[in-house]
Amino acid sequence: MIGTPTHCPYCALQCGMTLRLAAPGSPPGSPPVEVTPRDDVPANQGGLCRKGWTSAELLTVPDRLTAPLKRESRDAPLQPCTWDEALGRVAAELRALRAAHGPDAVAVFGGGALTNEKAYTLGKFARVALGTSQIDYNGRFCMSSAAAAAGRAFGMDRGLPGPVTDLAESGAVLLAGGNVAETMPPFMRHLTAMRDRGGALIVVDPRRSATARQADLHLQPLPGTDLALANGLLHLVLAENLADHAYIAARTTGFDAARTAVNSYWPDRVERITGVPVPAMREAVRLLAAADRAHVLTGRGAEQHAHGTDTVTAFINLALALGLPGRAGSGYGCLTGQGNGQGGREHGQKADQLPGYRRIDDPAARAHVARVWGVDPDALPGPGRSAHELLSALGGPAGPRALLLFGSNPVVSAPDAAAVEERLAALDLLVVADFVPSETAARADVVLPAAQWAEESGTMTNLEGRVLRRRRALGPPEGVRTDLAVLADLARRLDAPGDWPDDPAEVFAELRRASAGGPADYSGMDYGRIEREGGVFWPCPAPDHPGTPRPFLDRFPTPDGRARFVPVGHRGPEEEVDADYPVYLTTGRVLAQYQSGAQTRRVPALAEAEPGPFVELHPDLAGRLELEDGDAVRVRSRRGAAVATARLTDAIRPDTVFMPFHWAGEGRANLLTNPALDPVSRMPEFKVCAVRLEPAARP
Ligand code: SF4
Repeated sequence: MIGTPTHCPYCALQCGMTLRLAAPGSPPGSPPVEVTPRDDVPANQGGLCRKGWTSAELLTVPDRLTAPLKRESRDAPLQPCTWDEALGRVAAELRALRAAHGPDAVAVFGGGALTNEKAYTLGKFARVALGTSQIDYNGRFCMSSAAAAAGRAFGMDRGLPGPVTDLAESGAVLLAGGNVAETMPPFMRHLTAMRDRGGALIVVDPRRSATARQADLHLQPLPGTDLALANGLLHLVLAENLADHAYIAARTTGFDAARTAVNSYWPDRVERITGVPVPAMREAVRLLAAADRAHVLTGRGAEQHAHGTDTVTAFINLALALGLPGRAGSGYGCLTGQGNGQGGREHGQKADQLPGYRRIDDPAARAHVARVWGVDPDALPGPGRSAHELLSALGGPAGPRALLLFGSNPVVSAPDAAAVEERLAALDLLVVADFVPSETAARADVVLPAAQWAEESGTMTNLEGRVLRRRRALGPPEGVRTDLAVLADLARRLDAPGDWPDDPAEVFAELRRASAGGPADYSGMDYGRIEREGGVFWPCPAPDHPGTPRPFLDRFPTPDGRARFVPVGHRGPEEEVDADYPVYLTTGRVLAQYQSGAQTRRVPALAEAEPGPFVELHPDLAGRLELEDGDAVRVRSRRGAAVATARLTDAIRPDTVFMPFHWAGEGRANLLTNPALDPVSRMPEFKVCAVRLEPAARP
């Protein structure tokens, strides 16, 4: 049997896989499809990580939602109901809230795992069917700082600077704050191929992570000091005369201001701030400058800070000084995390954007999109609150009183999670669409059972900016609907103007028209072409356009065609350690779990591999606290406390502890994290806060 070629449900690498229906007579409860990796997809070339290998088990998780649920009052239990009862109640309550309090009384929260078609429809539903400005998505918590910095420097944000296979041809890759060996293991094959050809991998991470262990050079800064490190590296590039001045003169602006800004980042000062030895910094810049082709990449470690946009900007300044962006086989790139983290930010579920990656405050963009939607541009709302600000306003005096949430689990994944729980409890109406009873769904008034990846069709845009086809291999269980069908039904119940197709191909045809002329122009693509070509890179403005694998070769999409240096300075984390909270906490991910864990905690092999919350700490710190490996530890910050198992390792700095954020309940790392926001991207500071540790009873 040929099977259905598609892509993994999890991360932004979007590994290719084939799904074959399980043979008749398979044991009861076994997955309905078998997964095999595809070797025709450049991103994974036949590889999958254990999440991909076990992804078919998501289709048969025991507590799969197969009927809508509603509760009669806040204290009543969720009870099964019909779709008509569920959507009828949602529509009636939304109408009443809007009539009483105005359109912004209703908010929408999306996710970076939604297909392009769903992200597009969700944005349209918010602006047209609800008329609300209050929509944002969990990608704000993911790569928004990189997106803001890339937009500022290059005029456009699009993940990697070229096909991921370019990395294998690189002479040096500096990876700041990304642990791809755990988060997307098949990505490592490109870096390994580079090293096999003599290239150098330089990793910046406070932990000696699985990726750092495979690096030629590991720079291990104190959390929250990456910006100082990047400025220090640029200082050394200039001091050692390693900058590409011909490139700087021809293709950039603002160099003099950036040079002045790093004058004071002399090496021994940067060593004092970051803890990174001067010789290691020198080696890093020499490796990068000596390579014919080189990449500077950032991940969440550099981005999830209250100064994340400036931190990424500092790494982009470094890349520009070395002449990398816009050169074939070189450049700056962001490692997008969620499955459709890239496409999810292009089609209008962000508070400040319309489809095609257009600004919502741009009159020409509003007029174009309003034409496609068949509405008056003046009727479209303006920018709304960013994700954390939106969650913080829920149920408050001037905030939304109802929330519709698709593809996200903020009770686990949002910063200062206990405060988010309080806000959700203050709502008049919480509606959650999901395929499992996530921790957020468990608090909803109405739960809508959703189809999942292999049960529906659509497109995803991976971390390369390549638009891919996700194909349906089997139908959803009886009682389950697609998000597109739910939104279309609700739009009709709300008497929304315009068309509301629930067929993904029809939605994509409309999305193409809405994106035409925007930065993320998909108008030259269709499903057939995407399938034939194994994906198409945006922008692709016409059917005969080849797509754009490397977008900046001739010019940058800025008014003068040049990339912009932006001077930035180190300011340190928003919360410093002190006598009460003497240790830094940094958070992140592990191989066997994904995001809030709502999916992976339900897959037995993954749950067994990483069964519960842990905190990594250095033996020296453990000794001072009289903690041993395996002890239960209470980690306390100014916002709350979490309980986790101590895991002793010398791979982390003695002044820092690490917690993954995949678990619920008392083990939530996000009970601790600091919601201080980056002023540009509105990214919370997930990557550093101050904590103290104490023994706890076993959770
Ligand atoms: Fe899926 Fe990402 Fe693993 Fe690939 S690396 S199999 S896309 S989770």
